[in-house]
Amino acid sequence: AKMREDRIEKTKTVCTYCGVGCSFEVWTKDREILKIEPVEEAPANGISSCIKGKFGWGHINSEARLIRPLVRDGEYFKEVEWEEAISLITEKFKEIKEKHGPDSLAFIASSKATNEESYLIQKLARQVIGTNNIDNCSRYCQSPATMGLQRTVGYGGDAGSMEDLENAELVIIVGSNTAEAHPVLASKIKRAHKLFGQKLIVADLRKHEMAERADLYIHPNPGTDLVWLSAVTKYIIDQGWHDKEFLSGKVNGYADYLESLQPFTLGMAEEITGISKEVLIQTAEAIRDSDRTCICWAMGVTQHQIGSDTSTAISNLLLVTGNYGRPGTGAYPLRGHNNVQGASDFGSMPDTLPGYQKVTDDKVIAKFEKAWGVNLPREKGMDNHEMVQGIHDGKLKALYVTGEDMGVVDSNINYVTSAFKKLDFFIVQDLFLTNTAQYADVVLPASPSLEKEGTFTNTERRIQRLYPALSPLGESKPDWEIYSEIARRMGFDWSYTSPADIMAEAASLVPMFAGVSYERLEGFKSLQWPVSEDGKDTPLLYTEEFHTDDGKAKLYPLEFAHHYRTTEEHNFHINNGRILEHFHEGNMTYHTEGIRKKVPNSWIAVSEEAAEKYGMEEGSTIRMENPSGETVARVHVSPEVFGNEMYLPLNDNGKSAINYLTNNDTDKDTNTPAYKEIPAKVEVLEKK
Ligand code: SF4
Repeated sequence: AKMREDRIEKTKTVCTYCGVGCSFEVWTKDREILKIEPVEEAPANGISSCIKGKFGWGHINSEARLIRPLVRDGEYFKEVEWEEAISLITEKFKEIKEKHGPDSLAFIASSKATNEESYLIQKLARQVIGTNNIDNCSRYCQSPATMGLQRTVGYGGDAGSMEDLENAELVIIVGSNTAEAHPVLASKIKRAHKLFGQKLIVADLRKHEMAERADLYIHPNPGTDLVWLSAVTKYIIDQGWHDKEFLSGKVNGYADYLESLQPFTLGMAEEITGISKEVLIQTAEAIRDSDRTCICWAMGVTQHQIGSDTSTAISNLLLVTGNYGRPGTGAYPLRGHNNVQGASDFGSMPDTLPGYQKVTDDKVIAKFEKAWGVNLPREKGMDNHEMVQGIHDGKLKALYVTGEDMGVVDSNINYVTSAFKKLDFFIVQDLFLTNTAQYADVVLPASPSLEKEGTFTNTERRIQRLYPALSPLGESKPDWEIYSEIARRMGFDWSYTSPADIMAEAASLVPMFAGVSYERLEGFKSLQWPVSEDGKDTPLLYTEEFHTDDGKAKLYPLEFAHHYRTTEEHNFHINNGRILEHFHEGNMTYHTEGIRKKVPNSWIAVSEEAAEKYGMEEGSTIRMENPSGETVARVHVSPEVFGNEMYLPLNDNGKSAINYLTNNDTDKDTNTPAYKEIPAKVEVLEKK
């Protein structure tokens, strides 16, 4: 809508940072962003927002933005016209495909880009190139949660909405720094807890804000959540507190599951997790006393070698206690990036086409082959982790990375960047010349959220539209236009005139998006998938049945097969995660002056006990080292961490980057890196 002097405009947008999916009106005058105004009708946040959504827009007009395509010229880059960059890309794609086959190329989608863009990059990989080598950053974070849910209840998404979290009698948060990583969602829980008597249990290594507020705080030893969750479940069953009617009517696999639980006694759990029997019993009693329980979790659960199994243990506990399918119940993996849910939903995955339709399912493949007019690959492609291995092994020759700074955020970055050097052809598409882009042969300038149209899907499976508030800076382009141009030059004229056309195609091919259309999403309207053809959406899943072949959920037997520990030599545990002010590696938030001034660089939280014992004073510099590499950071002595456990925020892409210390270990079921299993030795370099 045009306003005063015909120059101030208000445009609806959706936050580009976390998975809460706050929507706002952004006020602009020419290219100037005047303010972000949250409005009542915003479905996820109403009038709330956090520092990042409200102020973190300095990246939009940053002088560091890429505004023209770059092509490598020896050690440097030269600016070129789009025509030249696209010609080079299509020539190289054809040449490499011809010489080494389609599976020698691979694609990484961006979880910051729109649903339509996720749909198109996987279409580019599958239809145009002929490979399933496509993945997105959920591989770094949320794939284990999706696996745990698919195994037990069917859909890889939150069981309900944030409203259910507000209406629960008991909320349990496991391994999530909710107040900083999902601030607006956390504020809803804080309100329900403070004003409406909601009970809160928090399990985390750090006594962060939510843990401090909790009625019960649980501190497990690193990597042992599966054990306490299973022991609490067993204790509930042993006491006869399980929901027998729910189990007999709606759930399969009880007998086998019960057998698998037998080792998880309170004694065994106490020994392994360090949580006392009393606290385990109090947890079980709180679940017994609650009629409606939700469990939220995040990277503290998923980024382990048993991340999928621990996510499964959460879902098992909810099934045993009948906490699915009713308002105020269910499983809530808290999605990190604004569109990490959508990037997977729309098919940027090596094993599933859009809508989690399997690449190995003949019927699915036949449908897409008919729509796209080509034969499609039927074997699972490489995931992100396998791609890096594949480059080292010489199988992968070309990589096209969009909106991911893999050279900072992947685990074991020394290993990852040494892979980049081996590529025959490397394309990076981003807003900035990131660490990763420095290794590229071609760098393409993309447009951020405020400069494009499309949809994002938040952690509640809520699809929301964003409208362009500004035109693309310089010669940058929205990703969907770039993919379309590459496809056209490769002989596939997709002829989309706008992202609405892309969504219409996705809706026609994906049952769970059958009724999704831009008209139904106009303005602040939203839809939570699955959406039936008549436009009815599903805020709460599983009210009638589970998303499985026979409509029943499945209890999934588990064992505790991997026990992470620090060693005598590497005797510190380096935990890591987000902070409120910066998002992820900080590539976007550091461009906002106010945020940069407030938190200019990184630090490491050290316990009072360790500070005393090892002489790590506030402000001193320490070096952490292990076989992967080393990193240095400034000490912040904090009562939030205990013993030899430390906490290093992610917001550093320089010498304090956490991923110099992570290694190649991954979750055994999804290949998500075990970012949260880092032992290191520590040396004080410099006292303050
Ligand atoms: Fe953006 Fe998340 Fe903050 Fe909302 S809570 S404003 S979505 S970063």
